[in-house]
Amino acid sequence: MSHHKVIIIGTGPAGYTAALYASRANLNPLIFEGSQPGGQLTITTDVDNFPGFKNGILGPELMNEMREQVLRFGTIIKTETIISTDLNSKPFVFVSEKNSYTADAVIIATGASAKWLGIQKDEELSREGGGVSACATCDGFFFKNKEIAVVGGGDTALEEATYLTKFASKVYLIHRRDKLRASKAMQDRAFKNNKIEFIWNKEVNSIETKLHTTSQGSEVEKISSLVLMDTVDGTTSNLSIEGLFVAIGHSPNTSLFKNLLDLDDSGYIKVVPGSTQTNISGVFACGDVQDKKFRQAITAAGSGCMAAIECEHYLASIGLID
Ligand code: NDP
Repeated sequence: MSHHKVIIIGTGPAGYTAALYASRANLNPLIFEGSQPGGQLTITTDVDNFPGFKNGILGPELMNEMREQVLRFGTIIKTETIISTDLNSKPFVFVSEKNSYTADAVIIATGASAKWLGIQKDEELSREGGGVSACATCDGFFFKNKEIAVVGGGDTALEEATYLTKFASKVYLIHRRDKLRASKAMQDRAFKNNKIEFIWNKEVNSIETKLHTTSQGSEVEKISSLVLMDTVDGTTSNLSIEGLFVAIGHSPNTSLFKNLLDLDDSGYIKVVPGSTQTNISGVFACGDVQDKKFRQAITAAGSGCMAAIECEHYLASIGLID
């Protein structure tokens, strides 16, 4: 079991920024990449709102730059996922699928993941190229001149629907109520777009598929239609589509910390306001795992910086560093 002053879990903008500050403070942090190295930005294309890139930068490229930057200052990157932890012992214990580690302090930057509908096949078809996705910027291109649907009534759903009209011939926006949750500006933009048709008061009951033969001769199951249920009168109807984008929000990646850390009602880690301190001293949380309000790369990076500075002060306060 190897011991470290600081362990960081997660390699989105929060984790990498924490690693940058911690390594430049000579804390030799060990960072775990987890199941989605680089985090959510690796499944986006253009990032135009991260300062310093006047012409924008591709999400995966930005994350690669951050990775190279932390390596330059001596951060050790492990391509492992932490599967269990003990935060009640000192030092803290972390177990990956390969090894066990201990640390005097930990910075949690495990981020958040897109929510799925929880009906049969939605997540499965997204993994197998079956025409279901939670990322319009990643997959929109595959739906040129096709009729597709977006589920959700928030800003993400409307932003994705609007973006998808660049490719699709028609975008159905399916919402379970008759009022959108999205901001007025986003609504106005979507209402003006004549490629978007709103389907109100409907939930997706099930996904129907058809088998397609690929150019290599193998068969793949692809979405062909949705069975929709009216949330007012309970009637069902069928909608033929070739693609489905699920945009119903995100869940924080906190299953590892249930019953260990204080979480809010939606499962986000609670931190002391204006800080990254959790309810256990020496445990800090930054980025989307503790932020359901802003959820931006730049705010995640800012909180990663705060976590590293607070972590350094903590280690000094218990006499482990000067
Ligand atoms: P939200 O939680 O705001 O919206 C989720 C939407 O999905 C709601 O309309 C909800 O319906 C619907 N929904 C939830 N679960 C289901 C389900 N099981 N079946 C069907 N529909 C469901 O999430 P967003 O990702 O849209 O936004 C999150 C935050 O990020 C918000 O604060 C938003 O403002 C922000 N954001 C800002 C952007 C921008 O400014 N450019 C872009 C994208 C997001 P209901 O309304 O009935 O609850």
